[in-house]
Amino acid sequence: MTGAPPDVHRVAAQAIDAVRGATDLPSLEQLRARYLGRGDGELSAHLRGLGAIGEREARAQKAKVVQELIGRVVEEIDARREQIEREQSADREAAEAMDLTVPPPRLRRGNLSPVTLAAREMQRIFAQLGYTVVSGPEVEYDRYNFTLVNQPPGHPARDSQDTFYVDDARLLRTHTSPVQIRSMILHGAPQRVIVPGKAFRRDYDASHMPMFHQVEGLCIDEGIAVSDLKGTLEYFAYSYFGADSRLQWRPHHFPFTEPSLELELACVACGGEGCPLCKHSGWLELLGCGMVHPTVLRNGGIDAERYTGFAFGMGIERAAMLAYGVQDMRLLYRNDARFLRPVVVGA
Ligand SMILES: [Zn+2]
Repeated sequence: MTGAPPDVHRVAAQAIDAVRGATDLPSLEQLRARYLGRGDGELSAHLRGLGAIGEREARAQKAKVVQELIGRVVEEIDARREQIEREQSADREAAEAMDLTVPPPRLRRGNLSPVTLAAREMQRIFAQLGYTVVSGPEVEYDRYNFTLVNQPPGHPARDSQDTFYVDDARLLRTHTSPVQIRSMILHGAPQRVIVPGKAFRRDYDASHMPMFHQVEGLCIDEGIAVSDLKGTLEYFAYSYFGADSRLQWRPHHFPFTEPSLELELACVACGGEGCPLCKHSGWLELLGCGMVHPTVLRNGGIDAERYTGFAFGMGIERAAMLAYGVQDMRLLYRNDARFLRPVVVGA
């Protein structure tokens, strides 16, 4: 021990003890500032006092000692820093390590949409009655969508409020009825077909979507009468909604059928007592139908003197809502598993 007062060594020893005891990087940085801070560090301050030593040799000697002590403290700090960093990354790895013995969460199977389930059930029921499934284009000619199903230019249903036009001649079909014409032209008579498919209208609220699904049905043969229509659709309604459902027929008007009827179902919410869902009437509209207008038969190339037929159309979303008690159609398209799963399980 030459030249340097013992307090420098004591301060250095204290610094080294403190550094070894530091447990994290911020406290290590605090120690670095406390002992080695420029000018006022407890250890580095000793360099400042060197000017007071008159003898050159003694001054150089003390400077060497203080520098050595500072160097040792720096080494200790660096070593401790490395050690802390190593420990922290080991902790992190341990925390992030995957335990391969833990059983994985149970995977849940996806569900078919209630709309798909309803469409399949409808197809199954009509298949039992000998109906086959046909389809047609969703981008349709104005002529097929309107004119040939008895909605000539000027008809209110052509209002652009309701219809998405692609250009002057083409549109997104507003119903599945144009496929009636296509099927008549393609298959002639007799025929029994259903057309499940998408339709598009400029509508959006709790009971209307801009894209929705319909099932269109068409039956053409010799001697087809209103009693065939009623028997077929009642069979469908009892099969789909249950044998204890209550149904009623009401006269209606559609341009493509004559006479036209509407089939109503006793309200699924109140059972006919009257409630907000059925607008206090006790009844819910289920489908529209009627005997195919002779003009429409002729437009499809069918001999209207020899053949008669009936047609019907219903919204698949609407039927699914009635069957599953869904109040807002938009729920069917929100892909919320909390909603879809109970609907499907309850089906
Ligand atoms: Zn009701």
